[in-house]
This record gives sequence, C-alpha cells and structure tokens, in this order.
Amino acid sequence: MRKKIVAGNWKMNLSIAEGVQLVKNIINEMPSLQGHQEVVFCTPFTHLSSVANELNQNVNIQVKLGAQNCNDHASGAYTGEISSSMLQEIGVSHVIIGHSERRQLFHESNAFLKSKVDTLVASKMQILFCCGEPLEIREANGQNEYVANQLQESLFHLSAQDFLNQITIAYEPIWAIGTGVTASTAQAQEMHAFIRNLISQQYSESVASEISILYGGSCNAQNASELFANEDVDGGLIGGAALKAETFLPIIKALH
Ligand code: PEP
Repeated sequence: MRKKIVAGNWKMNLSIAEGVQLVKNIINEMPSLQGHQEVVFCTPFTHLSSVANELNQNVNIQVKLGAQNCNDHASGAYTGEISSSMLQEIGVSHVIIGHSERRQLFHESNAFLKSKVDTLVASKMQILFCCGEPLEIREANGQNEYVANQLQESLFHLSAQDFLNQITIAYEPIWAIGTGVTASTAQAQEMHAFIRNLISQQYSESVASEISILYGGSCNAQNASELFANEDVDGGLIGGAALKAETFLPIIKALH
C-alpha cells in the first residue's frame, strides 16, 4: 500500500534534551495515524539512542526513527563514520540519502550515493532518497532531465522488489530548501507525476503506483495541506518546520 509520510529532518540542530522533549510533545498531541500513514524523526546521530528510548515507550509503531546519513561500508577504517548495522542496533529504520546539502557541501556524487543505496538495501533499511534540481537548472527548464539522471545513476539498478520494498523518494528542489520559497503545487505535482512515470517505465505501473514520493522545500503549516492534496504528493520531508511541535504538528495533520 502506498504510504503517506511526514519525515522531519532536524539537520544539525537541537540538543539531545530538546530533541527528546520535542518528540514527546509531538507524540502527545499527534492525531492517531491510520495504517498507511507514518511519521519519521531524522535526528543527528548523537540523539538517536535517546529518541529511540522515547519512541520505545510509545505504542505507536507508525512513528519511526531515521538517520541523516550512513557510510557505504559494513565496517572498517573509516574514521568518523557510522555503518548501517550500528544504526539498526539502536532502532533506526530509515536513512536519508542524497540530501542536497550532502551532495553540495560534501560532494556526494550519484555514483557514491548508489553504493550507499546498495549497502542500505542489503541491510534491509528504508531509504529516503532525495533528488532535486538547483535554481539555474530550473531556470533553463532542465529539471526533468536532471532529476531523471539522479534516479537513473543511483537507484534504477535496483530490482523491482528492492525498489518497491525499500525506496521512498523525496523531491526537494534545491532553490526551495530553507529559502522560504516553496514550489507551487502545480510545480510539485508536475515533477512528482514525472518521477512516477519514470518509475513506471523503469519497473512497472504497479510498482510506480505503490511508491511514496514526498515533497521537500519550505513546506510548512500553511502550505502542507495544499501540497499534500496533489495526487502524486504523498507527504513531505520537512526541515525548518520540523524543529518545533507547533509547526510540525499541523504538517502531520495535513496527512489526514
Ligand atoms: C530539507 O532540508 O530537507 C528541507 C526540506 O528543509 P526546509 O523544510 O527547511 O526547506
């Protein structure tokens, strides 16, 4: 079943105590989730265990724990890195891969992301795979080709089964991330439909119809309902607005 998902990407923000309190507040006030709905907290590595403890005290199994990155090796001499099994050991089920900040600031290429995807698929973890074009590509009307290339080079080598079971796509136009500029609902729907059509061509219509495609980029309490109402928008990956209960809760409510 195609899931409706709201995932919060805390990036490098909040103390551990603030993060745990935020999760507590959100869970206390959250509407009950239906079977096809999920909320994911993607916290800094140092916060994961404490948030996992908090989530364990809660019976809602549709609230998940996510990391923001993962190394592409199983173990070894990779100073400063974290492996998929280390994440799983503390209850992490989801990992954000290919966020534009990692692509731009840490020079992560499509080929490198492909190897992270393979590692996570082998570990049976859920991948929140980000794609999206920079402003100059949008201005030159090259966004479709740009996004198609990102998916082609990092994801489309997967089997239909692995793609279906482990991939969620997050379309995040770079010009909308953290800028306060949101893609219009028409721009979001157009790109999401394009991505779904690519998946249909690569795999099948039934695989494409089951994949969740989230929108990310200045999504907030005011615009979430309108964005999520689009046929091909299955929720959101949320940055700034995920850092406060009062801004994240209305976005979760917009799933309903
Ligand atoms: C993000 O970083 O994934 C994001 C969507 O950020 P923001 O919501 O702040 O634009």
